[in-house]
Amino acid sequence: MQSLIVIAIGGNSLIEDPNNQTVAAQYAACRKTVAHLVPLLQRGNRMLIVHGNGPQVGFILRRSELAKHELHFVPLDSCVADTQGAIGYNLQMALWNELRRVGMERSAATVITQMVVDSEDPSWRNPTKPIGSFMSAEQAERHAQSEGWAVSEDAGRGWRRMVPSPRPRAIVEIETIRTLLERDIVVIAAGGGGIPVRVETSGDLRGAEAVIDKDLAASLLAQTLEAEHFVISTAVDRVALHYNTPKQLWLDELSIAEAERYLAEGHFAPGSMKPKVEAMIEYLRATGGRGAITDPVHLGSAIAGRAGTRFSPT
Ligand code: ADP
Ligand code: MG
Repeated sequence: MQSLIVIAIGGNSLIEDPNNQTVAAQYAACRKTVAHLVPLLQRGNRMLIVHGNGPQVGFILRRSELAKHELHFVPLDSCVADTQGAIGYNLQMALWNELRRVGMERSAATVITQMVVDSEDPSWRNPTKPIGSFMSAEQAERHAQSEGWAVSEDAGRGWRRMVPSPRPRAIVEIETIRTLLERDIVVIAAGGGGIPVRVETSGDLRGAEAVIDKDLAASLLAQTLEAEHFVISTAVDRVALHYNTPKQLWLDELSIAEAERYLAEGHFAPGSMKPKVEAMIEYLRATGGRGAITDPVHLGSAIAGRAGTRFSPT
């Protein structure tokens, strides 16, 4: 039987060496991750890939800032679209090359994905996601005055622009994605969590200055498409209790009830592991499917139930 696997790949895991952040290095990282996906495709599964883009959006914004004496500024929704295209291209080429290497003919396609967010989302009044370069207090004040940016001090490292991170509500291109998957095409969609758009009273869509959590976006896709498996691939092979402390305890299996208890006890850091566990719980509850959080190397064995932190409804 063919299963649909939804895989979320971290934007950070596409940067292996912080001192070598080139496009070529990013392609090499994509190719390594893709090599771990190919065996899953060889087993006849259908696949949807959602990638992160935190660092990559930062680079585009920085470039835009440095060039502002000469070129127009790039709004955030457009930056997300740029990263969907560029990372999607990297993944498509990596898939083409790796699939050809094992003698498989399967196509891959990137869908530039708009994600509807709610105008009433509480995050509009409370922007929590730091993006772009660090600034001095004076620069931050100027941007706040002239562009209306929300700015905040970021952990003693300087001032940064803060943007809202509204919840993803609906996927505009869902029927396109579904059709491609039904044709056995490997789909790359909702990169960076999707391009945030709001629905105006006229019914028109309009890009929003926000970023969407890619794990929550991937979860919404896995729920909507009723995927049999939802896997979040990140920098750690498992989720831990008391992470990074002497009492650290790696977890192999978690039920919804256990995951919720550990969440409430604060074991999962906000902005990193917490949204992943929340995304997993939402998927399990909606579909009764199976989930895992692991690193790229353990993707296949995690789906087979032998590695990673596996999540089940009960
Ligand atoms: P990604 O780019 O894949 O979204 P993040 O950096 O956002 O990755 O989140 C993954 C990171 O979360 C891990 O590399 C780890 O450092 C951190 N983390 C926080 N809490 C935990 C925990 N309880 N167990 C494991 N990792 C955790
Ligand atoms: Mg993350």
